[in-house]
Amino acid sequence: MSLSLKIAIVGGGPGGLLFAKLVARENPGCRIDVFEQNPADATYGFGIVLADVALDFLKDVDDDLHTDLLAAAERQDTITLYHHRQAVPIRGNVFLGIPRVRLLNIMQSHATSQGVNIEYAKRIASPDALSGYDLIVGADGVNSAIRDALQHEFQAVVEPRVNKWAWYGTRRRFDSVELIFEQTRYGIFIAHSYRYAPDHGTFVIECDPDTWKRAGLDAKSDDESRRFCGEIFSRYLEGEELISNRSLWFNPSFVTSKRWHSGNVVLIGDALKTVHPSIGSGTRMAYEDAVALAKAVNEGGGDVGGSLAEFERARRPTADGFQDAAMRSILWYETAETRQHMTPLEFAYSYMMRTGKVNRDRLRRIDPDFLAAYEAEIAGKELAG
Ligand SMILES: Cc1cc2nc3c(=O)[nH]c(=O)nc-3n(C[C@H](O)[C@H](O)[C@H](O)COP(=O)(O)OP(=O)(O)OC[C@H]3O[C@@H](n4cnc5c(N)ncnc54)[C@H](O)[C@@H]3O)c2cc1C
Repeated sequence: MSLSLKIAIVGGGPGGLLFAKLVARENPGCRIDVFEQNPADATYGFGIVLADVALDFLKDVDDDLHTDLLAAAERQDTITLYHHRQAVPIRGNVFLGIPRVRLLNIMQSHATSQGVNIEYAKRIASPDALSGYDLIVGADGVNSAIRDALQHEFQAVVEPRVNKWAWYGTRRRFDSVELIFEQTRYGIFIAHSYRYAPDHGTFVIECDPDTWKRAGLDAKSDDESRRFCGEIFSRYLEGEELISNRSLWFNPSFVTSKRWHSGNVVLIGDALKTVHPSIGSGTRMAYEDAVALAKAVNEGGGDVGGSLAEFERARRPTADGFQDAAMRSILWYETAETRQHMTPLEFAYSYMMRTGKVNRDRLRRIDPDFLAAYEAEIAGKELAG
């Protein structure tokens, strides 16, 4: 039976657009309005990257969208980690890079093809502006206005993490995902980089606040920062410059919400809880929230309160598990300095184990050569006493 709900979605990011499409597809009788503060083709940042498993689950839910996203993505199947300037490749990790604006454009056309109405350049400051809707979905990202307006209900904790981040692009072509830990006289600078288009890569830079200050980055202009970081990583950039797109330094926030819904208002994606750029799963989390919420609404028979409770019951344990993994990843990066004594293989092994989601068996399956080299090195050290 098709529902006939009036649904408002605040935020036309990956979470909001997927939820809109999945409900519209099953319920032609619903009226679904997405309010997006930006124009249709505007986005901050460059490309994003998703592990292939992060998209696999979409096949069952929306095969057409899965196919379109795969067709637009650049595939990389190796992580190359640089420690003490030595490269350690770890194979069998498949990543899909895609320009964020392309991902959004694909999702916008999927949503509108199901009758979803998207209103661009329309910022919603509070659920009060949306009276008359049966369901209001706050999919408005990490700085969610919907969450803030109902903070007394959601009781969110927004914790800016200590490390500094800046999101750049480059025309250097990456053949693998590269994680570069570059020791400098100021401290360690970390680059998270990957290809998201045939001739474009994302180059996100991270460093701890003391390194950032010692390097004088607190006093540099945007362009000075860009050139300074380009020099730090020049040996890896093969003569290409870093490209800025409002690439200001920021501290990624870690968001948790005690309550997930209040009345007819629910949060999903980064508005509800973040993972962290260092585990590159924010888009996947937003998608999985959207799928779980759509399922609860589609099967809820029009009982909005019951559907929102079911969404939280079904989704929360997995989401909490991912946040725990994200926190372990955050702490691993924030303490990178303490692992400088490690050999490149030890460092790479520690990286692979950092979230607790990968074990030796999995590592043996995905890259037996890497694990064998690591185990041989450890055995050699033990023999040497
Ligand atoms: C530096 C950096 C790198 C990242 N890299 C990756 C990566 O490689 N892979 C990955 O999976 N994730 C990555 N992420 C995280 C990822 O971008 C998010 O987790 C994901 O986009 C969350 O989706 P969402 O739909 O919840 O929110 P968002 O994508 O943030 O979308 C929210 C939308 O709501 C709109 N909006 C906000 N407020 C309002 C309002 N009041 N009214 C109307 N519209 C509003 C915004 O304009 C935006 O379009 C990265 C994040 C950062 C900061």
